[in-house]
Amino acid sequence: MSDLHVLSVVPEIYPLVKTGGLADVAGALPLALAPEGIRTTSLVPAYPAVRAALGQPQAEHVQPDLFGGPVRLLRGTVAGLDILAIDAPHLYDRFGNPYVGPDGRDWGDNALRFAALARIGADVATGSVPGLRPDILHAHDWQAGLAPAYLTYRGGPRPGTVMTVHNLAFQGQFPAGLLGTLGLPAEAYNIGGVEYYQSIGYLKAGLALADRITTVSPSYAAEITTPEGGMGMDGLLRVRAHALFGILNGIDETVWDPATDPHLVAPFSRDRLEARTANKAALQARLGLAPDRRALLLGVVSRLTWQKGLDLLLDALPHLLGFDLQLALLGSGDRALEAGFAAAAAAHPGRIGVVLGYDESLAHQIQAGADALLVPSRFEPCGLTQLCALRYGALPVVARVGGLADTVIDANEAALAAGTGTGVQFAPPSREMLEAAILRLAALWADQPTWQRLQRSAMDSDVSWRRPAARYATLYRALRDERRT
Ligand code: ADP
Repeated sequence: MSDLHVLSVVPEIYPLVKTGGLADVAGALPLALAPEGIRTTSLVPAYPAVRAALGQPQAEHVQPDLFGGPVRLLRGTVAGLDILAIDAPHLYDRFGNPYVGPDGRDWGDNALRFAALARIGADVATGSVPGLRPDILHAHDWQAGLAPAYLTYRGGPRPGTVMTVHNLAFQGQFPAGLLGTLGLPAEAYNIGGVEYYQSIGYLKAGLALADRITTVSPSYAAEITTPEGGMGMDGLLRVRAHALFGILNGIDETVWDPATDPHLVAPFSRDRLEARTANKAALQARLGLAPDRRALLLGVVSRLTWQKGLDLLLDALPHLLGFDLQLALLGSGDRALEAGFAAAAAAHPGRIGVVLGYDESLAHQIQAGADALLVPSRFEPCGLTQLCALRYGALPVVARVGGLADTVIDANEAALAAGTGTGVQFAPPSREMLEAAILRLAALWADQPTWQRLQRSAMDSDVSWRRPAARYATLYRALRDERRT
């Protein structure tokens, strides 16, 4: 039985639409909260993939015109998730990436598309759908950031609001002249409201006006209050530090389970690690790598952007190729990085295998077949790939930032003696330090009994949603009780 109802306002949700970790969180957290007695309804734009998944749902609520066209709310259950989808063809009936058009640029009307998400979130939060009376509106990232603003400036009773920052680099900044079009009053345009450097800041609005702010790791929560990590928001976040919490993400352990994963040629577990070798051989074959069991196979599954630090890896390759290493990389993003890795693969067949694109199945195969996973991010709010790597016994090699610092235990001498290491950390994120970390990893690889101990402690790490879900539940309940009194 649930005693608390959350309206989760999100621009993407696994398994319906996903560009990154946000979708994973949006899809997994509701399921993890259910045993905590918390019911979640997820409000999402009805992109074509969402509409198709819902089949023929009933329209719950109709609005004749919002930002140039009609809106209906469609309700249904998909993959155990209670979905409320905003069917507004003029805003969301577009295929592919939800934010970017076929020309690779952001859709020109993103300001309206995501103001609509936030505004309807505020409507539903205050009872526009019969039978739905959420206790909490939980807004995720800039796309939902205006929801606390709509609730604040409308006045009247409202549920508690939580704003989660999954990545502070994406802020949603739009021209000030849109204020009236968005349906926000003139008084909203001030430093304590939606104003942000002479424009309207969607994330800024949420950070300023939500009752609670969360982000996805304790280290990132601290980093974003500093000028170096705050991306222009640190002043505001310092003022709001009392309302800011860092709660780590988990991963869905049914989707990421090496013992049952349908994408793998051989299932394995911490007590059947030897079955991993078949996955390594399959990965080597798929990416054209030499079928060499003894070569240390490094994996990467990532967006290829400056944040992820993969330019450092590209620069380190000439030096690293002097050692008995292989690289299996899956990623997409910046053209220059894509071209750089493609060229490296062409120049070193059998040593470097690269697949450019998005491939869920290959992502699983890399986690299962690679010996280690590289995550050299310059900043990383939480990071999910290193959590998958821990669970699959691919030792993570990570920059000591954000959630990477919080989830991987460096296999230094003390950790090795205590048997607690789960990977390798390095700092600062630079080519030299990445190279040194990989050479330290190679030394561990040369000592196979130690390596296998590290793999087992990696696989013993708790990367589930249990503890994070309990923390969200505590936060929601405290906020609800505070607003009742
Ligand atoms: P971010 O959200 O910044 O991209 P995260 O590590 O939090 O990074 O989440 C990335 C998610 O996207 C993981 O589930 C990862 O497996 C997946 N992913 C990233 N790139 C690819 C890709 N090219 N193909 C398949 N899955 C990918």
